[in-house]
Amino acid sequence: MHARRIATGKVTFDEVMKEVQDKGILCDQCHQPYSAHTHDTVLFLRLTRNCTPKEADAVLVKLKAPLIADKIDGAAMVETPEKFRMNEPEPTAKK
Ligand SMILES: [Zn+2]
Repeated sequence: MHARRIATGKVTFDEVMKEVQDKGILCDQCHQPYSAHTHDTVLFLRLTRNCTPKEADAVLVKLKAPLIADKIDGAAMVETPEKFRMNEPEPTAKK
């Protein structure tokens, strides 16, 4: 299922999904009923060096078309034996 914020306030996921199904609301991304969303297909990526979230986003943007063509719902970075990380750059010291 696509990550979507479909309600605000204090409601449970089950309450929201019951209302969505009772009203026949379709997914705004694929226009299928939410009941048709049975699983996510996720691409797992291994970092080959340390990087920033901005650098990772740039790579994912380049992969967007083939990911959509292959019906991949999302991507996740997995830990590597080298312990590469995706972190914000260190702030430069102020003088
Ligand atoms: Zn959908």
